[in-house]
Formats: sequence, structure tokens, C-alpha cells
Amino acid sequence: TVWNLGSINIDHVYALPRLPQAGETLAARGLTQGLGGKGANMSAALARAGADVRHVGAVGADGLWARDRLAAFGVDVAEVAVLDAPTGHAIIFVDDAAENLIVIHGGANRALPWAKVEGALARARPGDRFLTQNETAWTQEAARAARERGLSVAYAAAPFEAAAVRAMLPFADLLILNAVEADQLRAATGRGPGALGVADVVVTLGAEGCLWIGADGERRLPAPRVQAVDTTGAGDAFTGFLLGGLDRGLPMGDALSLALRAAALQVTRPGAADATPSLAEAEAFDA
Ligand code: ADP
Repeated sequence: TVWNLGSINIDHVYALPRLPQAGETLAARGLTQGLGGKGANMSAALARAGADVRHVGAVGADGLWARDRLAAFGVDVAEVAVLDAPTGHAIIFVDDAAENLIVIHGGANRALPWAKVEGALARARPGDRFLTQNETAWTQEAARAARERGLSVAYAAAPFEAAAVRAMLPFADLLILNAVEADQLRAATGRGPGALGVADVVVTLGAEGCLWIGADGERRLPAPRVQAVDTTGAGDAFTGFLLGGLDRGLPMGDALSLALRAAALQVTRPGAADATPSLAEAEAFDA
């Protein structure tokens, strides 16, 4: 079982001829609304990967459909609270050149009461896994509590926030970062990914695959070569399938190989959670 304390957002994507300037009013050509947020994307990928995933988080009354979408992926949403706060959301402008501008409002993700997190973790069992990112309240407290309960803690250090990431390092058994975040962490700590005191560190490298730094040293794993059309949510799909593979008992190398296949398929399709492949597709994919 994977307990994912994670954000649930509604993505409002506006298509514009160009990005607006300060003080300007522009008419959008179109609007699409969908489920987003790193936490929700990872839970969707975990469910697709065949994991038993319990999402811990919150929506407002305006986001019941987003919670239900998550449930439709096969995610257990019993620990998703409905709060008197707006559902977290992202306002996304995309212009004709695919350039974007994004504003995020944490909303219910940041208003989640500690008692809800504590209550959820009280139902976790030693040997379960705990996953979190930086888009909700209580990440550090929850990671500490999860560790104390005997759960293995995985942490995706995104969106990067130096203070939050540093505070999480003592509680993480597995740290997942992209190359930009790895550089930011090096600048913030003066230490490379192998010298952080975290048992397993995975640095994702886009089309180049990933680097795994564990007890046996460093290992580079290449990504399958694909024609990328939309890299949104690639890192979230990677993390979901990695944790899903580990949860099913795969050794790290095999779980990483599965995650690389799933993320490669993900970038060949438009969208975030909706573009996530199934386990069968990821397993069968041989680029
Ligand atoms: P993020 O999505 O957080 O920016 P990356 O760009 O490193 O992180 O992508 C995450 C993972 O997605 C990579 O490790 C890789 O497995 C996969 N991926 C991303 N871009 C491509 C690509 N062009 N071809 C194949 N795999 C890709």
C-alpha cells in the first residue's frame, strides 16, 4: 500500500494567441479544465501501475468531481477531505508557440488539517510506503510520523523550495528530483545528490533517462527513444510507476526500468494524468 499525501488541483488551461502583458486584457480562444496537481498525477500513475494507493489530501466543494476523477483511476479517496476552502487550482495560459505562464493557488491543499493526516497515517501499517511532494501542508510532519510508524518514505522534491527540501532530507528513504532540482539542491546544501544521507536518490534526466545513486554506487539508466509531443507530467508518471513497481516488490533496477518505459509513453501523448499509460502498456513497451 502506498499512502500519498499530495495535492489535488483543477487545471484551467486557456488557449491564447500570445501571453498577455501587464495591464492587458486578452480574449482566450478556448478553455479546458481537468484534474491536475503533482500529487493527483502521481496517485493516478500509481493506480495505473497496479498499486494499492490511498490518496491523503483535500478538495473544496467545487472539486468533488476532481476527487471522483481520481477515484475513477482506481485511487482510494477515503482520506480525501472536503474542506470549506476553494479546491487548489492552476490558471495556465498557453500561447500558439506552446509558451506558457502558470499561477497556482494552493487552496484546500494548504488548508488540510493535521488531524486528517494523522488519522490517515494511523491506518497505515509497517512496511507500507509513504510518498509526498511540496504542494500540500504537513509534508515534513507527515514524513516524520510515517517513518516512526515503520513506513518507507519517498519524496519528490517538487516544486523546489530549498528550505522545505532540506527539512525533508532526514526523513526520506528515497528522493526523486529532476536535473534542475538536483542543481538547486546542490546550490542550497553544497552537497551533491550522493552526499545527502538519503539511502536512494534518483535524478531524472529527461530524454537521457535517469541516474540512480544507492548503496552500490551510481547507475545510469537510459530512457527509451520516443517522439515527445507533451512532457507535462512526465516526472509524475515516472515517480508513480517507480513507487508502484517497488510496492509490488520489484527490485529498484526493475522498478526504474518500468518507470522509464511509462514516462516515455507518457510524453508521446498530450495531457498529464489522462496521458498516463497502463501497466500492461508500460510492460509491453520496448523502444
Ligand atoms: P520533469 O518532468 O520533472 O521535468 P524530466 O524532464 O527529467 O523531469 O522527465 C522525467 C522522466 O520522464 C525522465 O526521467 C524520463 O524517464 C521521462 N522523459 C522525459 N522526457 C522524455 C523524452 N523526451 N523521451 C523519453 N523519456 C522522457
